[in-house]
Amino acid sequence: MAKTRNITKEDIFIKARMLSEGVCIQGLTEKVPPGLRDISVRETKGDLSDIEIPEKLDYNDVDEIMELAYKSTLQRTTNLAGFSTLILDDSGLLAPITPNKHSRLDLIIKGETVTVSDGGEVLITGRFPKRPKWLDAKLSNGLPIEAALPAASAGIINVVFSLSCMNYNTKRGCRYCNLFANPVSRKIIMLPKETLRQYSKYQAEAVQIATDHGWRGTIAISGGALPPCHRPEYLERMGIVLSMLREYVGEETLKELRLVYNHYPPEDFSDMYKWKEMGIDAVSIDIEVMDSAYFAAICPGKSAYKPHAWWKKAQEAAVDVFGPGRSTGCIVMGIEPMSTLLKGTDERLSKGIIPIPLVFVSAPGAAYWGFRPPTAEWIVKASEKIADAIQKHASKFLGPNALKRMGSRANKKDSKSTQSTHRTVVFDELQRRLQMLGELMKPRKKRKN
Ligand code: SF4
Repeated sequence: MAKTRNITKEDIFIKARMLSEGVCIQGLTEKVPPGLRDISVRETKGDLSDIEIPEKLDYNDVDEIMELAYKSTLQRTTNLAGFSTLILDDSGLLAPITPNKHSRLDLIIKGETVTVSDGGEVLITGRFPKRPKWLDAKLSNGLPIEAALPAASAGIINVVFSLSCMNYNTKRGCRYCNLFANPVSRKIIMLPKETLRQYSKYQAEAVQIATDHGWRGTIAISGGALPPCHRPEYLERMGIVLSMLREYVGEETLKELRLVYNHYPPEDFSDMYKWKEMGIDAVSIDIEVMDSAYFAAICPGKSAYKPHAWWKKAQEAAVDVFGPGRSTGCIVMGIEPMSTLLKGTDERLSKGIIPIPLVFVSAPGAAYWGFRPPTAEWIVKASEKIADAIQKHASKFLGPNALKRMGSRANKKDSKSTQSTHRTVVFDELQRRLQMLGELMKPRKKRKN
């Protein structure tokens, strides 16, 4: 029988504090997940020195490119992002572990138990998630699987068709983003198609290893921004990646995964029908902020391609092609004022689009490295209001009995429908509400008069 969970407002607030303040890690034992220990030591020393790369990179040598990128400190930080988490006791919430030597919150590791405390007062306990076995596997070129799957997590694997971001490389990257900040990506303008084919083979091998171990989640087909002269090739490049996935993972298994297009909006929205034919199930066009002026300031490269209004129109076109609830888009919570965030979220939901709010995290290598995330109070308040809006518009995405079904599953720890991520609080709050609904739905015992 599934174990039950109990999410309280206090659990959510502590998670929000961990997002906002980070944690000062005490006692770097072998229990600390691989990589987190190294990053924590570097963070304490303020050491973000990175690897030297050859003056001339051989764009045809995919093994060398992968090996160099894998060794990069910045890339290791990105790789780590998906699994630097703590599962909080009782609630089962996934909380982030962001090392911050200045934080009031101490993360103390004793045996299997991890404690988060403030000034000696224990706030909560938790445990590290079990590292999936497939993450220890090696690719056919001998490199670790993470060399092909940056920032993989239990729920999402990114499969990219571009290994660098033209925006980042021209100093017009999104201000919070460090996805392609490693020194190898900074050198690459555009990979030759043959190199992409070889790289895609390794990505597909890695996904095959994950699915052979039972991983079933979302594959985001993504990558950095393409240079304008190569943009017309995006469908072809995407096709290379998808055909490798088909070859290695197999059509049947691929049907059990969710394939999400997660890149620029196209010049011509009718391309979305081609995405569908290619096997894409849903679309995530990341508008990042709800206010158009902030978009131009925060995402200068994206805005130079098309204004905010175009990105929003593309989300709406995706609703027409893929259906309500299958058009999503990430939002970085904590950059713009709460008023524009909430107004924009409500408006997007009213059109059948589900914004995915991820709390801003200060990332090494990003222009906003060192900027503070919002406070825990801000995160909780905004998340509650967004949860209100999702509930208000839920009938646009869900069938009439879906809420009841979700409610009855909400207090089971192993329910897939109850999964949130370590960067979001909105879905935890929704989960808490569903759990209460589940309690209300339990059959009452007959009263004795
Ligand atoms: S979010 Fe912005 S900076 Fe980051 S990869 Fe995408 S376009 Fe580039």
